Amino acid sequence: MRAVKLSSPSTLTLEDVDIPEPGPAEVRVKVAGAGLCHSDLHLVDLGDAWPAFGLTMGHEGAGIIDAVGVGVTSHSVGDAVLVNLVWSCGTCRACVEGRDNACEVTGGRDSFPSAPGLTADGAMAEYMIAPARHCLPLGGIDPVGAGPLTDAGLTPMRAINSVLDRLTPGATVVVIGIGGLGHVGLQILKAICGSRLIAVDQDPTKLAHAAELGADVTLEPGPETAARILAETGGYGADVIIDFVGVQATVDLAAASIAPEGKVRLVGLGGGAYPASAAIEAPWGVNIQRSYAGTRADLLQVLALAAQNKIKVEYTTYPIDDFQQAFDDLRAGKLRGRAILVP
Ligand SMILES: [Zn+2]
Ligand SMILES: [Zn+2]
Repeated sequence: MRAVKLSSPSTLTLEDVDIPEPGPAEVRVKVAGAGLCHSDLHLVDLGDAWPAFGLTMGHEGAGIIDAVGVGVTSHSVGDAVLVNLVWSCGTCRACVEGRDNACEVTGGRDSFPSAPGLTADGAMAEYMIAPARHCLPLGGIDPVGAGPLTDAGLTPMRAINSVLDRLTPGATVVVIGIGGLGHVGLQILKAICGSRLIAVDQDPTKLAHAAELGADVTLEPGPETAARILAETGGYGADVIIDFVGVQATVDLAAASIAPEGKVRLVGLGGGAYPASAAIEAPWGVNIQRSYAGTRADLLQVLALAAQNKIKVEYTTYPIDDFQQAFDDLRAGKLRGRAILVP
């Protein structure tokens, strides 16, 4: 079968490899679609610093089970499934406390839990192997476009669930970056709260997309953006800011426009540093959290919203042979929503 591999530093190749066999408690999924994520570009850009050359890429996979391993009774051949991004152990303290995206056993302090495309062969292939318990039923959701629900859906869901107490009617939420994650995040916010939504993106077409998805105000980032957000909130600041970009300019924008007691969620891996300060002029009580992926409970909520057609991943498909074009289009910011490789 064909598989997209990070074969050596910064080099993606389409290789012909054996079709894998599921082990005990695993299933084999015939991949219907695999989403591309900015973190895939991040792996390519890490060069020598990435330790796992030879893995098949792709952490946003969905498809149809075509073989089950010994002992699997929960799933059957023919089931349409979404493969969870977070392969937690399910039994450590973090997992049983509902923080499985911070699993102690498969992740630990300095890493993230095991994940397809990151620590095991992923979804950018004709077939993938996954633990049965991390394959969630898709119901009637089309598997071709479902893969991004496990990251572009899950990651915003976690960030949003961590600020639920602030999403009151009358509150203002700023979403920075209306790409793969941001366009789903806006839809989740629209579906679950009555807060006012401000979208920020440097690309006017992405701001138009945000307006279509229900953003009340759209702003291009610039020297006046923080002042615009303050003006929109009577000078007080935004209650919640979710930064899906995370470069220094967007993190600075969040710091300059968050309200007292506001909540900032840093999601994008842009490397920006939040200027936390004990100075008297900084807003009091600001709560800042880096946010990684999400919990199994979050993912069930994402699937429920998708099944109700309240969130929809917008995507462009590429045949797996054209994987390089898909990566190039992602890097160039040309995509509306996600790119999906179809094996
Ligand atoms: Zn990702
Ligand atoms: Zn665990």
